[in-house]
Amino acid sequence: MTSAFAQSNPVRPTSPHTRNRPTKGHARSERAETRRPSGFDRFDLDPRLARALAEAGYDEPRPIQVETIPACLDGRDVMGLAQTGTGKTAAFALPILQGLLEEPGDGPLVLVLAPTRELARQIENEIRTLARYTEIETVCVFGGVSAASQTKALRRRPEIVVGCPGRVLDLLQQRELDLSWVDTLVLDEADHMFDMGFFRDVRKILAALPKDRQNLLFSATMPKEVRSLADQILNDPHVVELAHTKPSERIDHFLYTVDEGRKRALLDHVLAQEDCRTAIVFTRTKHRAKRLAQQLEKQGRSAVALQGNMSQSQRDRAMEGFRAGRFEILVATDIAARGLDVAGIDYVVNYDVPNTPETYTHRIGRTGRSEATGRACTFVTGEDRAWLRDTERILGAPIPSETLPEGLPTAAAGLGGREPRAGGGRRSGGARGASSRDGSRGGASGGAASTRNRSRRGGRRSGRGSASGRASAGR
Ligand code: AMP
Repeated sequence: MTSAFAQSNPVRPTSPHTRNRPTKGHARSERAETRRPSGFDRFDLDPRLARALAEAGYDEPRPIQVETIPACLDGRDVMGLAQTGTGKTAAFALPILQGLLEEPGDGPLVLVLAPTRELARQIENEIRTLARYTEIETVCVFGGVSAASQTKALRRRPEIVVGCPGRVLDLLQQRELDLSWVDTLVLDEADHMFDMGFFRDVRKILAALPKDRQNLLFSATMPKEVRSLADQILNDPHVVELAHTKPSERIDHFLYTVDEGRKRALLDHVLAQEDCRTAIVFTRTKHRAKRLAQQLEKQGRSAVALQGNMSQSQRDRAMEGFRAGRFEILVATDIAARGLDVAGIDYVVNYDVPNTPETYTHRIGRTGRSEATGRACTFVTGEDRAWLRDTERILGAPIPSETLPEGLPTAAAGLGGREPRAGGGRRSGGARGASSRDGSRGGASGGAASTRNRSRRGGRRSGRGSASGRASAGR
């Protein structure tokens, strides 16, 4: 089968860079391989990508990949509404890599913006895994570390740049990053980008990009600000919507109603469960994350904090240690709530409730990743009643409530948090799991992937790499 793109096969205009040096050769001879059939064969991907997929153990495409990859390959803009852990990185990375293999050139040709360094790194790693049998280069840029090695890497003209908006903008303003040849933009976790106040930077970056480009926007939720940005930048997008506010069916989530003073003892109880070997514990503030990790360590547990006051190298050490299993407990602020993919986390504990219902879904999405199952429990105090009401409304079902274990002591020294209020929180009825698995969440979007197309301004591209899509008039 020949893709629409291969049929049109336009020639990428010579970039300013290619005048000075030969274009990188991607046409490395492809080894004849005997490979067993894979569910990815339907996309007719380059054998080098197919080989990397097979080695990574990706046999069947995930729903978001089934929905997204063909549209991306056709050069369409895409709006993906999907929660984390759904496989969205490969959903955009594979068509991007395919495009770069078919039309090589010096970069940056692809810009991926992500809200946190951890997520940017994770995207970089996933792209590198998928591109391992190609010569496509990916460079990751983010703040908090010296820019020297990043600028050096950029001089190699990598095809793909993954970065956080702040550093991308800095490098752009210092003329260390030339975005004038970018023909594919990915905005990942757009809602989180907005929450973190990056939209000003994002808009400045957008202004530096060629107008004629493919845009892929991913967001777990669609607050009005993200919707408005999407309306501005996306041209007749293919919309892929996976259940975005509903936690994965694989996550058994429940809550405890507890006062602040007994949270510490309750945490010990949860961490002592037999099925709790690894856990992420979320706190509201950086200070509380630090204190709690210290307290757990003093108790002899292998715990580490991940919070925004730590240096980049400290954060890397914490993440790598947790990933490698050197730490069993990661105590984190919401910096770790999204996008991060660590396999095999048994429990997510919301020691403090998250700010918004959306963040709840993101946080508990740290467990139950890929095909695994996981448990998530939330400590709800009397002050969190409004939060609980909003969250349950958005989820479309009560979060099942668990009875507090008997005789929980009140901690002598808390974490310096909110004082408990008299009255306690509400209890939603029903045993744990009873209401979360029976499909009674009428208000949440359906579990199955659904797609719909919106036509706003008519198609800019007639297929991936069509003359209007890739060979740009305005360059
Ligand atoms: P993401 O949503 O991109 O963070 O992906 C979540 C996890 O799923 C990552 O560990 C990916 O490596 C993995 N993954 C993505 N697509 C597939 C697939 N088709 N088969 C198996 N694992 C996958």
